Amino acid sequence: QAQIVWLRRDLRLGDNPALYHAAEAGPMVAVYVLDDARAKGHAHGGASRWWLHHSLASLAKSLEARGSRLILRRGDAVEELCKVAEELGATTVQANRHYEPWWRKAQSELREKLDLQLHDANYLLPPGAVTTGSGTPYKIYTPFSKATLDLLPPRDALPAPETLSVPERWPASDVLDGWDLLPTKPDWAGGMGDFWTVGEAAAHERLAWWADHVADYDDARNLPSVDKTSQLSPHLHFGEISAAQIWHALKDRRSTGWKTFEKELIWRDYAQNVICQFPAYATQSYREDFNALEWRDHTGEAAADLKAWQQGRTGYPIVDAGMRQLWQTGWMHNRVRMIAASFLIKHLLIDWRVGERWFWDTLVDADYASNACNWQWVAGSGVDSNMFVRIMAPLTQSEKFDAAAYIRQYVPELKHLPDSEIHDPADDRRGRYPDKIIGHKEGRERALAAYRATKG
Ligand code: FAD
Repeated sequence: QAQIVWLRRDLRLGDNPALYHAAEAGPMVAVYVLDDARAKGHAHGGASRWWLHHSLASLAKSLEARGSRLILRRGDAVEELCKVAEELGATTVQANRHYEPWWRKAQSELREKLDLQLHDANYLLPPGAVTTGSGTPYKIYTPFSKATLDLLPPRDALPAPETLSVPERWPASDVLDGWDLLPTKPDWAGGMGDFWTVGEAAAHERLAWWADHVADYDDARNLPSVDKTSQLSPHLHFGEISAAQIWHALKDRRSTGWKTFEKELIWRDYAQNVICQFPAYATQSYREDFNALEWRDHTGEAAADLKAWQQGRTGYPIVDAGMRQLWQTGWMHNRVRMIAASFLIKHLLIDWRVGERWFWDTLVDADYASNACNWQWVAGSGVDSNMFVRIMAPLTQSEKFDAAAYIRQYVPELKHLPDSEIHDPADDRRGRYPDKIIGHKEGRERALAAYRATKG
């Protein structure tokens, strides 16, 4: 009897426990269900859909090269899996655990109907496995990270199955092109296609490149002008590569760069632990005093400011370079994500959830847990210390992290300016580049006043 492998954000053949166990057991059918309704507001955004299309196409090719197929279905995940099971006469579904609230719900529903075998696959350690001495989950990153380091290494990575047995007859499948995951008019994804190669093989190529660069990570990871971070995030998000594969491939490089990089992978695990404890983290501030904060109305008085931020026209070169990098490539350097997010929340006093939404739609690595945790971290509304009153100065950050070349690349109107002027161009040196939509001091004071007002 064939087994079903239910794929979601684990689009790989190597180190895929669900696929590995199904292949060991005999004939298997890999199924991906596009289920927008369950995730509601967190159905894949535009940039993620673009990535998903290419990732599914790549995985289908790899399965076909092994004589198998990828079955595509659209609709409610649980219903579609039950239908596929009926078409096949199958009862067992192998799947890797996912922790987004809608996937947890789907997992428990499916368990009622079929024999669902769940595996740990995508994180260094299974979310929920890292607990305090008294068995409760950690809320704060630093103790979580220490406890994780004590428990590592992660499990060994599994090999890709050499051969895959096929069922007697295949269930019906949609055609990927029929899903319209790619943008048509206008085709805004051209820049993304130039920037990324999608799929499992590309993820491993990137990892091989990264193995030669990870030693520099500690010094250079904050500099947006140089290509010194792994850029593995979308590959990791879609599960084209696993955290265990990365960890084992790099573990012998005991540089300070590697140690810092390992901590970033732990941030990724940490975010999953947070959403396991607080499933609504992407839509609700954890700190209650934030409910009293009077954000500016982004659909009314602040609509033009929001648009300027989204389009990279705030008049702050570092913020605009980041927002344009995001639009063109679907990715933004981490340091600039922090600066751009802080600018929206504090200088423009726009609710962090509005920023979460924009990143959700435009990032190729948009991840329910990581996006929410980082937005709440910048806002200071989350489980960590309250950072609202620590207001980043974008112009100082730009100089400190040497962003001149980065600005020249993404804000070509300022290309002619020397390093000494490009971070904060004088009014008569801006040419076609917009004036600042708000002064730094003015924005800072408005934010602090709004925050003070929540305290009565
Ligand atoms: P590297 O620096 O090479 O780090 C290696 C890996 O560690 C990354 O690929 C990522 O998987 C993980 N990682 C690194 N930093 C973080 C972090 N702060 N939190 C969680 N995981 C981390 N990351 C996402 O993957 N998806 C998101 O939706 C996302 N939204 C963000 C929103 C904001 C406002 C901010 C400030 C950060 C966000 N990040 C998000 C975290 C971080 O910016 C990206 O993971 C990183 O820039 C990806 O680039 P990289 O692969 O070169 O990272």
